[in-house]
Amino acid sequence: MTETSQPFQTYDVAVIGGGPAGLAAAIALADTGARVALVARRQAYADNRTTALLGGSTAFLDRLDVWRRCADQSAALTTMRLVDDTHRLIRAPEVKFTSQEIGLDAFGHNIANRDLMVALEARADELSNLARIDDDAESIVPDESQASVRTRQGQALSARLIVGADGRQSLCRDAAGIEVKSRRLDQAALTFNIGVSRPHRNTSTEFHTPQGPCVIVPLPGQRCSVVWVASPNEAARLMALDDDQLSAANEKQMHSILGRVEVEPGRHLFPLAIEEPRQVAKNRIVLVGEAAHVIPPIGAQGLNMGLRDAADIAGIVGTAMSSGEDIGAAVVLARFEKARRSDISSRTFAIDMANRSLLSDLLPVQLLRGVGMQLMGSVGPLRRLAMREGLAPSWRRSALGKRDLPGL
Ligand SMILES: Cc1cc2nc3c(=O)[nH]c(=O)nc-3n(C[C@H](O)[C@H](O)[C@H](O)COP(=O)(O)OP(=O)(O)OC[C@H]3O[C@@H](n4cnc5c(N)ncnc54)[C@H](O)[C@@H]3O)c2cc1C
Repeated sequence: MTETSQPFQTYDVAVIGGGPAGLAAAIALADTGARVALVARRQAYADNRTTALLGGSTAFLDRLDVWRRCADQSAALTTMRLVDDTHRLIRAPEVKFTSQEIGLDAFGHNIANRDLMVALEARADELSNLARIDDDAESIVPDESQASVRTRQGQALSARLIVGADGRQSLCRDAAGIEVKSRRLDQAALTFNIGVSRPHRNTSTEFHTPQGPCVIVPLPGQRCSVVWVASPNEAARLMALDDDQLSAANEKQMHSILGRVEVEPGRHLFPLAIEEPRQVAKNRIVLVGEAAHVIPPIGAQGLNMGLRDAADIAGIVGTAMSSGEDIGAAVVLARFEKARRSDISSRTFAIDMANRSLLSDLLPVQLLRGVGMQLMGSVGPLRRLAMREGLAPSWRRSALGKRDLPGL
């Protein structure tokens, strides 16, 4: 990757935003042979979130020559347990999914976003057709034949296609004139990592509480990452506890299934929201990652979808370039919209419903939830369907071959 400071440059694609979705998109696009600018400030990754990268995501990162650089910092995920911890009148039975049951060695791998980012940055640095502009985009103006970008420090560039990977407050989304449906949730997620005294056996456990899930996901060694969703007040209270108090509170919430808990330094609080733009492609701009979808952290879906956005835009641009099409033309953007719409909408809806059913005090809703979980737990084909859908949409698997979900 070249650092560029020339006054004006023209590219095939400009990717705005260097989070995990933006970096993956920039690398995948550069791999197609496109001349790519990545407009993103170089900065240390700010929080301690981890990502459970499900099946196809690791295959995609492998194809980008990223996975081999960070695989040993991840922990395989072979069993997932859902535990109803609501103490309500109607409680769902525990559901256990194992990767073996659907013929996979693992559902995926959990890795600290920081470690994944280091691997993505290292790969991006190697690509000579990927230029890094170490700055924020300040304005983006699409027109008939290209889109112009001006950065905060006054650099100007143009590209035929803009990939908006600039997260929740997306400038690209505004520049495209795309409206977003947005709903703040009365929940916040506290994230931190823990050491545990018993082996996790590559099992993640979701404790479903009346305020949201508390999810324990394996990390290498006797460590796990924790995403604890609660009401904003409760999450703020937990955030303010000292290490010993938080360790004790977390061990209690986990019913001591992994023995003694010791929290590691560093915790972060995320207010939760659901956001779905009305389109993901318009006016020479496509959206990827959280610019295109924000969902609560249930079922480890967010960045996995972001990586599918990245894989799809690269595939579509590669095909368009080889047939001599304008890669920012409306017809090309329509292919991206079509490729991504049902995955984004169906998962946003499913996660929203799962979250609502957890929070609802209505008996019929609790009953429905209990019956759904009971069926998933006891009916093999339904359980296997749920597992496969959790990894990637079924149409995607059938198109790509389902043994190892290659390239998402
Ligand atoms: C608590 C929690 C747990 C989660 N766990 C999981 C999980 O297990 N599995 C999973 O798949 N997903 C998970 N997610 C979701 C996942 O973390 C997000 O989907 C992912 O981090 C979003 O990445 P991104 O690159 O789209 O956005 P970001 O990481 O927000 O990156 C956007 C980048 O754009 C930059 N930017 C913004 N504006 C500009 C501009 N004008 N110019 C240039 N740059 C700009 C920002 O500085 C930032 O670096 C979780 C989310 C939360 C909150």
